[in-house]
Amino acid sequence: MKFGTKAIHAGQEPDPSNGAIMTPIYQTSTYVQESPGKHKGYAYARGKNPTRVALEKNIAALENAKHGLCFASGMGAMDAVIKLLKPGDEVITSDDLYGGSYRMFTKVFANYGIKFHFVNMTDASNISKYVNANTKLIWAETPTNPTMQIIDIAACAAIAKQNNLMLGVDNTFASPYLQNPLDLGATIVMHSVTKYLGGHSDVVMGALCLNDDKIYEQLAFILNACGANPGPMDSFLVLRGIKTLHVRMDRHCFNGRKVAEFLKTHPKIEKLYWPGFTDHHNHEIAKKQMRDFGGMISFTLKGASLDDTFKLASSFKVFSLAESLGGVESLVNHPATMTHASIPKAERERVGVVDSLLRLSIGIEDADDLINDLKQALA
Ligand SMILES: *Cc1c(COP(=O)(O)O)cnc(C)c1O
Repeated sequence: MKFGTKAIHAGQEPDPSNGAIMTPIYQTSTYVQESPGKHKGYAYARGKNPTRVALEKNIAALENAKHGLCFASGMGAMDAVIKLLKPGDEVITSDDLYGGSYRMFTKVFANYGIKFHFVNMTDASNISKYVNANTKLIWAETPTNPTMQIIDIAACAAIAKQNNLMLGVDNTFASPYLQNPLDLGATIVMHSVTKYLGGHSDVVMGALCLNDDKIYEQLAFILNACGANPGPMDSFLVLRGIKTLHVRMDRHCFNGRKVAEFLKTHPKIEKLYWPGFTDHHNHEIAKKQMRDFGGMISFTLKGASLDDTFKLASSFKVFSLAESLGGVESLVNHPATMTHASIPKAERERVGVVDSLLRLSIGIEDADDLINDLKQALA
């Protein structure tokens, strides 16, 4: 089946007891057993819930994966991946990461004896220099948040395979509609479901998809043992959100291109980050591994102080100033003080997260209204 059909149908069957076309919200914590241990596959809802199982099958289908697992948040999903490791193990990851990922690596798991190398992965050959006997995982995010760096997934997968490492890819920015890392050789793909998959800014959730049976069993064990399970109501909301993922993504991409082209010639813009431009550092790789370029755009303002940037960030009428992304409504975010505030200034500035950087999540409103809003804000 093709993507749009899977988005609407995968994992979902009419309810056998009454024919309800929508998957019910199984708002239950436990399941009655016939005799101890004899049940219909469901014992306690931390381990498994039918609404969640439908969603896990659906997201797995979108990533062409054998297995899917949903977590209470994107960070909960990543936390489970790092818990596959042991003290002494090493991870090679990118020097431009979602702020929360960087925070979890450096402030939580570094204390448990796991070592993280932050590497410029836009040239995949940099990765090999950090591989040693302790390396277990390469963790890539592409496009990166917020500077839209593109990392070559197939090249990372080749290095992972050669060295017997796992490759995890945070596919949040692209969504499964634009990019499928497992098809390019990744071991695990992770989503902050909160963003494009949910799509309506009303749920926080995470997901992992993979083909490897053994790693799946380990991750399912960690999910049940550690308890970052999402609830049935949230699972229902995401099942509903995903039904329009392909339609929304087409509009995010269409609007994203229009806004990027408008900003490109604006005299107040200094740097513009969007992988669809032919002069983007890794545009050719983006073209190869993504089906389109998405609705995330970042830019810096010429000669703007922090105050000027704050003033602009607060002057929009259609865009809302908020963290997060991937919803139907357009958002503007100031990474240096909002999503990426936990990264030390010198470190974030090295990868371009300067005080005059703003990040846009282009929604699915009318593109003309978004451009007019940018026009008035930049005037
Ligand atoms: C938001 C985000 C996360 C974290 O997901 P939550 O659902 O907020 O926990 C991880 N990676 C990226 C790229 C994100 O944008």
